[in-house]
Amino acid sequence: MIGGGVSGITCALLLQKSGFVTEVISKDDFERVDPSPSLGSLYPAASIIPHSVKHPNLNSLFERSQKVFKHLNLAAFQGLKTHLHFELFSEKQRKPEYHHLLKKFKVLKSHELSKAPSHPEIPIQFGYQFECFFADWNIYFPALVKAYLESGGIITKKELKRDQIVSLDSDIIINCAQLGGPELAGEEFEPVIYMGHLVKINGVPPLKKDPNETVSYNFTPGKKYYQSEKGHLLDVYCYSRESDLVLGGSRLTGTISENGDWVGEKVIEPSIKIGKWVIPEQIFSLNSEIIKNYFGSDISSYKERSVHIGYRFMGNKEIGLNLSSEQLGGKLLIHNFGHGGAGVTLSWGCAIEIQKMISQHYGVKNSELPELLNSLSF
Ligand SMILES: Cc1cc2nc3c(=O)[nH]c(=O)nc-3n(C[C@H](O)[C@H](O)[C@H](O)COP(=O)(O)OP(=O)(O)OC[C@H]3O[C@@H](n4cnc5c(N)ncnc54)[C@H](O)[C@@H]3O)c2cc1C
Repeated sequence: MIGGGVSGITCALLLQKSGFVTEVISKDDFERVDPSPSLGSLYPAASIIPHSVKHPNLNSLFERSQKVFKHLNLAAFQGLKTHLHFELFSEKQRKPEYHHLLKKFKVLKSHELSKAPSHPEIPIQFGYQFECFFADWNIYFPALVKAYLESGGIITKKELKRDQIVSLDSDIIINCAQLGGPELAGEEFEPVIYMGHLVKINGVPPLKKDPNETVSYNFTPGKKYYQSEKGHLLDVYCYSRESDLVLGGSRLTGTISENGDWVGEKVIEPSIKIGKWVIPEQIFSLNSEIIKNYFGSDISSYKERSVHIGYRFMGNKEIGLNLSSEQLGGKLLIHNFGHGGAGVTLSWGCAIEIQKMISQHYGVKNSELPELLNSLSF
């Protein structure tokens, strides 16, 4: 397995639990890494929603992922929770095409919209709610890594090049290297990226309307209030975690140059500076107003804040997840990169698909989902 982010670890864990002997090779050590926007698994919010990702079988990947998240949630896997989640818009929208896969999905009627999280000055025209799986990243990702190591897995810190793949010990190599993926796939590197800004605020108690239910939301206020340099609609969101509150977001389109510099949309005014970072002011101002209006909580009183900038790698050359295989020097090389804003969401679905690709390659019976779920006991 090449890649020690959520894609690599999830896939390695699933394979390890189903009887394979695996090793994860990662250029970076997530515990000691210097924050780099290129390392996706440092930044997810991490709601289980297939936002900002494209694949022809997206719904089935999402459906299978959700089944595993449901299983993990029932098994009380650390950091995995559910939120009552709202997606809200100041303009009319269609419901998402994957709506039938969302638990307790409901399009809100006008009297229900008035009870949803809202900004005092921006009316909501359309919205829906559902029960959303949510991975409290500070807890879930370390627990996932621990589960992998406890299952007998090994993580080795090393950088690999495509021409080294044929000399690896294993017959099956899985490229979960995300931004490093195209090079390992032998492709010219032309990444399509959506840059994202996050503000983390420490110590804010989980935002709830009902004592038993944490609430999160994603709100698109319209171009008048929040758009990118090129005029793309942007949205803000808010997720409570045990130790902090995550506010987002942005989706600035662009790419990176060969030396890793951002080439693309810039933060437009109004902007604010937190520490050394300049971020869209709306992430803080729109979210603060909604939180005050709906939850009655004043987040401006929490001063311990940090800003994080991460790249959602949407695909190489064009937007799209590369989940494919090739033969290289007698080895089976499987690619799994380009998850955009949904690498956590699709992590289990992609891992299951990879297991299926391996079974098909060797002409052996594929494990059915119940069997896989049974193997995932922690
Ligand atoms: C602001 C923001 C918010 C997001 N929110 C969400 C969300 O709410 N829900 C969601 O599902 N997703 C979300 N995402 C997306 C998610 O974070 C990513 O899709 C996911 O973390 C990607 O994980 P990964 O393991 O594929 O890649 P990464 O985490 O980038 O890991 C890549 C791995 O490959 C290794 N590697 C690279 N090249 C080589 C090489 N040549 N040799 C060896 N190792 C190599 C790296 O060292 C690393 O270990 C968000 C992303 C951002 C930026």
